[in-house]
Amino acid sequence: MFTFDLRSFIALGSVMAMLMALVLLLMRLQYPAHIRGLANWAAAPVLWFLASILFATRDALHPMLTIVGANLAIMLGSLMFYAGCQRFLDHAPQWRVWMACLVGAALVFVWFTFQQPNYPARLVVFTVLMMGIYGANLRFLVQHADQRLPVRMVEFLLALHLVALLGRCITALLGRQAEGFFNPSLVQTLYIGSFSLTALMLSVGAVLMASDRLVTELEHLATHDALTQAYNRRALLQQCEDEIVRSQRSGRGPALMMLDLDHFKLVNDSLGHQHGDAVLAHFARTTNALLRRQDRLGRYGGEEFTLLLPETGVANAQRVAERIHAALASGHPLDCRVSIGLTAWLGPQDTLDAMLARADRALYQAKEQGRNRTCAA
Ligand code: GH3
Ligand code: MG
Ligand code: MG
Repeated sequence: MFTFDLRSFIALGSVMAMLMALVLLLMRLQYPAHIRGLANWAAAPVLWFLASILFATRDALHPMLTIVGANLAIMLGSLMFYAGCQRFLDHAPQWRVWMACLVGAALVFVWFTFQQPNYPARLVVFTVLMMGIYGANLRFLVQHADQRLPVRMVEFLLALHLVALLGRCITALLGRQAEGFFNPSLVQTLYIGSFSLTALMLSVGAVLMASDRLVTELEHLATHDALTQAYNRRALLQQCEDEIVRSQRSGRGPALMMLDLDHFKLVNDSLGHQHGDAVLAHFARTTNALLRRQDRLGRYGGEEFTLLLPETGVANAQRVAERIHAALASGHPLDCRVSIGLTAWLGPQDTLDAMLARADRALYQAKEQGRNRTCAA
């Protein structure tokens, strides 16, 4: 007959969780310091491991340690994980409230262990508090985190464990929970299985969240211009190429603009290079604010920008250009004038090089005709 050895299962799960703690600690040393929360995340599996050891030594050590201490260690570990999520998203953990809850729980545990031994009562207190911690953690992530895959995974695990806790709480209330951590009841087996798995997978989730953040940041650095936060030239040209390939399938092509700030050398010479930098950043911010989600502004170089408008014809692109001219004449101290050359996709035989050449020609025309205007080619 198949027997499920809970002790081995817990031991194995704990060792793996400890390895994850080591991974998180190493990440803490290697990752940029502004990726926060890793130390809290590393502390969580250590506390859970400590709790498993205490539970496993129930017969050898004093109940103050194996019952009160072990339960507190689990709750503290879960709080650590929650604090890790909060610090990761630049929120300050509210230790005081939770610590007060833990102290209260410790007193209740002492009461129901020594004064008036009552296993179901301890279980109810424990599960309710744990549901509070995991529930708060889940709510926090849903409200504040970017819902990317690793975050969704952690949310799923927290929800799963909430269900397991609820099941355990209900069986305790119904009086179905026999005393003893290693009793082989189905609920207990499921709960401990879920606990060991969650402990391990939550740590994996934390590792994934931190590396996802690092990848996202590096990707942003590699594709964006530091001064204006517009796309850099390489990233923008790549997006233009991709858009033209897409157009060949959909039949709806993009419009492309070259934008060159007017007399920018004069701005630099009269007001200083730093002021010039601020004007460039203001230009990109103002223009980006007018665009649709799918539009892409890139810094082609110096004070020249490129704007890609997917699935847009000349007439609509001209309207966007007019909006840009108007927005830059709003009276803001960093306002500037801009000349724009505009072109639209001509059909499947059109190429990016040809489009850039036409937009450039149109830009030259706009400069020739007196600047602060848009020409189309
Ligand atoms: P035009 O109206 O014909 O476009 O005249 P312009 O002065 O804008 O054109 P020109 O190409 O002669 O000058 C561009 C200036 O942009 C020169 C360069 O110093 C300045 N520039 C390029 N990149 C930056 C930058 O990152 N910051 C600042 N402050 N200035 C920059
Ligand atoms: Mg120029
Ligand atoms: Mg210029």
